[in-house]
Amino acid sequence: MNTWVVTLGEDAVKMVAQWIRESSYTVVLTGAGVSAESGIPTFRGRDGLWNKYRPEELATPEAFNSNPKRVWEWYKWRMELIAKAQPNLAHIVLAKMQQKDTIGPIITQNVDGLHQRAGAVDVVELHGNIWRVKCISCSYASKLDSPPEEIPPRCPECGSLLRPGVVWFGEPLPEQAIRRALQEASHAKLILVVGTSLQVYPAAYLPVLTKNYGGHVVIINPTPTPLDDEADLVIRREAGEFFEKLGKELGLI
Ligand code: NAD
Ligand code: ZN
Repeated sequence: MNTWVVTLGEDAVKMVAQWIRESSYTVVLTGAGVSAESGIPTFRGRDGLWNKYRPEELATPEAFNSNPKRVWEWYKWRMELIAKAQPNLAHIVLAKMQQKDTIGPIITQNVDGLHQRAGAVDVVELHGNIWRVKCISCSYASKLDSPPEEIPPRCPECGSLLRPGVVWFGEPLPEQAIRRALQEASHAKLILVVGTSLQVYPAAYLPVLTKNYGGHVVIINPTPTPLDDEADLVIRREAGEFFEKLGKELGLI
């Protein structure tokens, strides 16, 4: 299969719109890049968080055990950014596409909840959600609506530490979410892969699965990814810009 790498000619938008219309089942995989235009920093890349912070000091169970306050300060900062952010046109157009049954589920590696805030109703969260907290000792779990004031926050039931409800390095993905994602990716006739560096597994495997089952893969990302050669179409553009055009082409905005 040839890969077509294109920038953002109207042809590319029309072609994707046509593929979406023809596809009997389209799913979407998103990563941090879909929220970049909402002002939420990505992890890797030029302005990525991992240029400034070391993942092993912040996003691992070991980091949390040795310095929960430091880890919580970082999450509190991210929660504040996310609370102030607004969904951008990529989130909004994807939500409208989902409401019209143009696409199936949005499988996301993001923990920011912006797809849901834009109106998406079927979002598979592979890496959890930053607003969820759970106790490290008992079964207490809850959802915050603002960043915790006391850092690190404590369990109201047993007094142990609460931890963010996200997946850290070295931890397994939520079983139900990954099972559904694998199933959806294998059934998809088309997968739109938006704003992910495709460096974290098993998320990065999902487009491969779609392709192996005979579906098409479209990647929307301003920088190259390891799967570009396998994709049917690579659109090197920012998600907000691309989905604004696609939304107009599909008559959604
Ligand atoms: P990433 O930061 O690795 O990649 C972001 C991608 O978005 C890049 O390929 C970049 O080119 C692209 N991008 C940047 N701006 C864009 C735009 N405007 N439009 C479209 N694309 C744009 O993010 P990822 O792929 O989501 O990373 C995978 C996951 O790794 C993350 O979602 C995260 O859950 C996980 N992770 C989690 C932690 C944690 O704290 N628990 C730590 C590290 C990584
Ligand atoms: Zn508890």
